[in-house]
Amino acid sequence: MNPESAGVELAEPHLRGLLASAGLDVAYARAEGNVLYRQDDDGRETPVIDFAGGYGSLILGHNHPEIVARAKELLDGQAPIHAQFSAHPYATRLAAELNRIIHRETGTEEPYYATFANTGAEAIEAAVKHAELDRVLRQTELLAEIEAAAKEAEAAVREGTAAVPDAVHARLGVERPAAGEDPLAPLLAELDRRNALVSSRPPVFLALEGGFHGKLMGSVQLTHNEGYRAPFASLGVHARFVPRGRPDALKEVLEESRASLLQLGVEGGEIRLVERAHPVFGAFLLEPIQGEGGIQPLTPEDARHIQEFADASGCPLVIDEIQSGMGRTGALLSSSQLGLRGDYYALAKSLGGGIAKASVMLVREARYRAQFELVHSSTFAKDAFSCHIGLKVLELLEADNGRAYQQATERGAALEAALERVRAAFPDVVEEVRGRGLMLGFEFRDQSGASNEVIGGAARGGLFGYVIAGHLLNGHAIRTFPTASAVNTLRFEPSVLLGDDEIERLETALTDVCVILREGASDRLVLG
Ligand code: PMP
Repeated sequence: MNPESAGVELAEPHLRGLLASAGLDVAYARAEGNVLYRQDDDGRETPVIDFAGGYGSLILGHNHPEIVARAKELLDGQAPIHAQFSAHPYATRLAAELNRIIHRETGTEEPYYATFANTGAEAIEAAVKHAELDRVLRQTELLAEIEAAAKEAEAAVREGTAAVPDAVHARLGVERPAAGEDPLAPLLAELDRRNALVSSRPPVFLALEGGFHGKLMGSVQLTHNEGYRAPFASLGVHARFVPRGRPDALKEVLEESRASLLQLGVEGGEIRLVERAHPVFGAFLLEPIQGEGGIQPLTPEDARHIQEFADASGCPLVIDEIQSGMGRTGALLSSSQLGLRGDYYALAKSLGGGIAKASVMLVREARYRAQFELVHSSTFAKDAFSCHIGLKVLELLEADNGRAYQQATERGAALEAALERVRAAFPDVVEEVRGRGLMLGFEFRDQSGASNEVIGGAARGGLFGYVIAGHLLNGHAIRTFPTASAVNTLRFEPSVLLGDDEIERLETALTDVCVILREGASDRLVLG
């Protein structure tokens, strides 16, 4: 038992119990770079190599000295951390710097406006809210145009400059009124009825199968994992999930979702019915590399099909770079490496440098609605501390011609080569190594049919990845976890400081795991 576990546990005791069952409920006393120091019962500190990397928030490692120095400087200098409703020059600078890098990486010049928030899920919810505000405003503008067109049609009929052909009544299934009565009145009533029906439909939000976008009331409905989503289905926005790698499915979505609003027009002295495309789509959310879904990268073809769908449908793309971004794959935006362009970007995790809680939603100018600033805010968002830390993180990523991005690519390649060596030696145990840069996944073959009771039982209970993580921690002083929704896949998301010796230690540890699995030797698992 850890020193802190004495007494009644009231902070998520059930979760702690689950962690304990795989020997994962250890306490850490200190952290530096890629290393966490585990505190044992006797007060001793044992170094543990951290491959979980705060699940992606530690691209520069734990307590990076320059980030810590900046934090101290801010606090010692009595920086006003909370000064809501004032000029925020640090937030302006951070937004400008993000734009500068995004423009460089995507080859565009269009500004992206920034809404700051605190967590990843919050940035996603801000994007979803903004997209819906934009859609509702576009719909309102469209309905106003339709109303103005109806007035023009009425005036033309009244003045005798336009006639109403029978075909228009027939098309809408309404009787033509008797001579002398207003020929437009029943048409307009039917038009209003149909338009009201279409415009009151809920928006279509799309997300990829396997995707993860947070666990708040709105964002959890865009997260594919049913366990997280289903109990709260009646609370939030509804998503339609589309498979990766199936462009036909996207075409189907486009066909099935298409809807139009009807407008009257005057052409060649006649009243005509004009169809206007109704803005049905709220947004399409996607991760360039699915993190919690098992480190599943989009292929450049997937990206092309998604971009084509967005262009054809007008559906805004919300690119969730919360886990994949901030340098992890060798660029600020890993989507830029796929040629994917977002209408929105969400960044979080490493934006806070491992010490601040910060996230940002960015929306491109063509979609941007200034009103959003008056209806969305948070007490803690855009605070001086997190903005200054975010600026420091960007400075460190960009320093020496982007050395940190290069390190992520190079260290990632070295790590991937080690994982691949283990896979090649144990093809019967390891299914696949996936990912890019310092966002790698190592998938084991399904062990639910294993003859060893402990291994097979853990797999059948969905705990296989956690048992392996427990052994890596207790047997090899290596910290990692399975991804949240694909528990046979271990994630490797260390910092750019990852050393060759650490990679070597991991290779030895994974080799040991594979031998245990191959031999069904659960007695050799060290879980506490
Ligand atoms: N999106 C992605 C891609 C994520 O990986 C996560 C966190 N794992 C989130 C959103 C949610 O972020 P947070 O936990 O900060 O709310």
